Amino acid sequence: MLLTISTTMPPATDLGYLLHKNPSRAQVFTLKFGTAHVFYTDADDTRCTACLLVDVDPVHLVRGKEKASGGLLDQYVNDRPFAASSFLSVAIGDVFSTALQGRCRDKPELAGRSIPLTAHLPVVPARRGGADFLRSLFEPLGYQVELTPIPLDERFPAWGDSACFSLTLTAEKRIQELLSHLYVLVPVLDNDKHYWVGGDEVDKLLRHGGDWLAHHPEKGKITRRYLRHKWSLARDALARLEIIEEEGTEETADAAADEAVTAQGDPSEKAASSISEEEAVVEAPLSLNEIRQREVLAVLQESCAESVVDLGCGDGKLLVRLIREKRLKRGVGLDVSSRALEIAEARLRLDRLHPSVRERITLLHGALTYRDARIEGFDAATVIEVIEHLEPNRLAAFERVLFDCTRPRLAVVTTPNVEYNVRFSFLPEGKLRHSDHRFEWDRRQFRDWCNRMAEQHGYTVTLRPVGPDDPEVGPPTQMAVFERSEQ
Ligand code: SAH
Repeated sequence: MLLTISTTMPPATDLGYLLHKNPSRAQVFTLKFGTAHVFYTDADDTRCTACLLVDVDPVHLVRGKEKASGGLLDQYVNDRPFAASSFLSVAIGDVFSTALQGRCRDKPELAGRSIPLTAHLPVVPARRGGADFLRSLFEPLGYQVELTPIPLDERFPAWGDSACFSLTLTAEKRIQELLSHLYVLVPVLDNDKHYWVGGDEVDKLLRHGGDWLAHHPEKGKITRRYLRHKWSLARDALARLEIIEEEGTEETADAAADEAVTAQGDPSEKAASSISEEEAVVEAPLSLNEIRQREVLAVLQESCAESVVDLGCGDGKLLVRLIREKRLKRGVGLDVSSRALEIAEARLRLDRLHPSVRERITLLHGALTYRDARIEGFDAATVIEVIEHLEPNRLAAFERVLFDCTRPRLAVVTTPNVEYNVRFSFLPEGKLRHSDHRFEWDRRQFRDWCNRMAEQHGYTVTLRPVGPDDPEVGPPTQMAVFERSEQ
């Protein structure tokens, strides 16, 4: 199998420094499953092309330890020698390890520069998803993607095309970016791995994908395929990516617009991640986020609420679901973060909704620790993963807003269960799930708070676990459903 990487940035032979491979000589590397050759087909000032040719020994594969169970690898005649796959990733990791780490020994400043790069993979399998899937992986990363179908057999055109494409990617990137994209995405395309996938694969994925994968629209599919559909590993990786994504959006907060509220003691800015609907249905497991949204929606459906206000609506994940509800006459989302509201607006596609749907939905900029007439008079209020963002000394103000002013017939409140944090293997002991969390309660603290609220404000409360209810530490998310006692 072959990968070529070219640049036209003069002096183009700097590619040799970037890859730590001298353009003037061919080199051979011995890998566990075969041999890798590195050589250059062009090497002058204007154009330089490095080739990585990986020679997989198919007989060794069938006999050797790397044999995966079942499928193609059980046969002597298979596509492993030529189709880009996890073998190529391993070869990239071995042969270009320094470049993959973003370092350049002889010209360190080069490693940080984006340069025009073209990567070519002559045979890329796309058994599931075809060309659309290939594009959906690389285009969001800023590549121009060129695909050419490969016929099954050139002598018999009537047989049509194979499930493979020739793929060319072009973009201005740092060499490390290109290599890490290929390192992660090539095995995703192949949807197979020649070695056993264990827990260290999650670390590998996050090491090479963390900073770009967290914001990739296909991150759910990529993660699950990279981890060979090992649900528990995928869940772990997605939870870690959710955290990376949240940290990222905090930095880009529209600080100016929020300043006024922040000055009054209401910081916080974030927009959590999500998995597309299609993903969730087709490729379980669901992320905790997804499970939570579904549970809240189910409570709202049971209650027959016709008007709902989502307090701390963030990027609008719940509202997107709500607008599909025929029964809903009025849906309002309120958040302190204008950046989150912008994302919500885009997610809801407000500008493209039919006027009859559009008029039912409103986004409001505001704080939920201040009385606000715009959020009064609703059947139901939802407060999903929000209270832990409030300063403990502002909690009483929020309680008055929710239970005295908004005073809905039904209120749904969710918050993390801190006891469950020990089950997130990536979370250092004692660390909260998100840097903006002011506290995370255990089951008893939440239950006590709920009982006190119900008693003080005339509600009955039911607690429901969200996510797998661990016999020792309980569920990852705790949910309280408050119903107003008097009508
Ligand atoms: N409910 C959403 C978002 C949860 S993240 C979801 O489930 O996806 C918490 C949200 O609460 C953030 O969008 C943050 O901006 C908002 N928030 C935090 N403090 C707030 C306050 N005092 N008033 C209004 N919104 C607040």
